[in-house]
Amino acid sequence: MSRVGDIAANRLSREEYERNFDDVEPPLERKHALVEASRCYFCHDAPCLEACPTGIDIPGFIRKIATDNVKGSAITILEENIMGGACARVCPTEILCEQACVRTAQEGKPVNIGALQRYATDWLFERGIQPFERVAPSGKRVAVVGGGPAGLACAHRLSMLGHATTVFEAREKGGGLNEYGVAAYKVPQDFAQREVAFILSLGGIDLRCGMALGRDVTLVQLRRDYDAVFLGTGLAGVNALKLEGENLKGVEDAVAYIERLRQAADKAALAIGRRVVVIGGGNTAIDIAVQAKRLGAEDVTMVYRRGPENMGATQHEQDFAQTNGVRIKHWARPAQLISENGALKAVEFERTGSETGRFTLEADMLFKAIGQVFVPAPLSNGTNELLELKNGRIAVNGDRRTSLPNVWAGGDCIEGPDLTVSAVQDGKLAAHAIDRYLKQG
Ligand SMILES: Cc1cc2nc3c(=O)[nH]c(=O)nc-3n(C[C@H](O)[C@H](O)[C@H](O)COP(=O)(O)OP(=O)(O)OC[C@H]3O[C@@H](n4cnc5c(N)ncnc54)[C@H](O)[C@@H]3O)c2cc1C
Ligand code: SF4
Repeated sequence: MSRVGDIAANRLSREEYERNFDDVEPPLERKHALVEASRCYFCHDAPCLEACPTGIDIPGFIRKIATDNVKGSAITILEENIMGGACARVCPTEILCEQACVRTAQEGKPVNIGALQRYATDWLFERGIQPFERVAPSGKRVAVVGGGPAGLACAHRLSMLGHATTVFEAREKGGGLNEYGVAAYKVPQDFAQREVAFILSLGGIDLRCGMALGRDVTLVQLRRDYDAVFLGTGLAGVNALKLEGENLKGVEDAVAYIERLRQAADKAALAIGRRVVVIGGGNTAIDIAVQAKRLGAEDVTMVYRRGPENMGATQHEQDFAQTNGVRIKHWARPAQLISENGALKAVEFERTGSETGRFTLEADMLFKAIGQVFVPAPLSNGTNELLELKNGRIAVNGDRRTSLPNVWAGGDCIEGPDLTVSAVQDGKLAAHAIDRYLKQG
């Protein structure tokens, strides 16, 4: 007989927790890195390079690994993508560089670009080398709001270009979703904080944590006190199911739970349901489903309202979820949350595809992973000047400039793919645009 509201911590042994949240893909050793690098054709007009949102010279860095110039390889990566270490771990390479690799079409097995990128950047990090220098100070000051991938990439490039940069970050730590969102097993061993420290080691960047725009500082102040402003505040809101009972015990927002999971020093202390239902079809849904399983949930089912080809999660991520024991059901949406004594008991679903009718899944916990939204409130700048939005996010031009003259924006708070690598590219492009603007003035 199962009991309602079976949500408990300590479902596994200590060894199981450690194994489940350790590196999902162990790093390459030198011998294997050399073998993998030798598979690269060093293509002219390399399609992998074209497919990288930050435009890393992929054949260039792989050639340097092949000749044992690992430091040079890391510099080639980091010149274009200062979060090359994080991206080596979190990028969906299967739809970016590795999908474009000519070996994918030839033999279905691309060069393992992600693993090689990690090999080179880890080498540099382990030696504590900061390979970049700042040019002479320009005397200009830039405010960056948000210490995630977009904000930190922008701050690092601005600092290299000689501008003093202050990063206002609402949370306790920098790193954004690398620290608070991405699946724990992709970035174990405090990688996000090591990367933040690496970025700050350039100098010229003052990261002020616990400082929120809209609470501790306003856009009007920043525009007045600094020569330019970059906004990289990400997505602060989440969509609701719009069903009665969203406050029931056992109904959770996936992003908030993942944040707790990422910050928990002891994963055994996290309570998880015995039977878990996840609503959504994107990467957040996959991440919470897999992590619920790895916390010891017996039964995890993801339910998505459309077909597999419509899911935001890549095929690779869907396969990964299934090999982790997650069941995926398509063409259904939640119609009713069923409770007993204030706790979730089951979820009734309505079929959305060619079949009709309803079915019920027993559940102790339900995770909502149906998308995040941009929250514009902290930006209200108390003047008549309007920061334009487009499709609910900050509107920018190709240079990532907003409708306000000295304000730029990038990352998840503007339209585009919500990926770490795209946020880094936005930050870099905005930094160069700000640099051009500051040099004119
Ligand atoms: C659960 C989850 C898993 C993901 N997994 C992957 C993955 O595997 N691979 C991948 O490429 N992408 C992944 N993503 C997406 C990726 O994390 C984001 O695209 C990326 O972090 C965006 O960077 P950003 O700097 O724009 O925003 P964020 O990383 O969200 O950083 C924004 C920062 O701004 C701060 N902030 C917000 N409001 C204010 C304010 N008012 N004042 C001051 N600071 C503020 C926030 O605290 C935060 O630190 C995932 C996202 C989620 C939610
Ligand atoms: S497409 Fe593949 S083989 Fe060609 S340069 Fe890129 S990684 Fe090497």
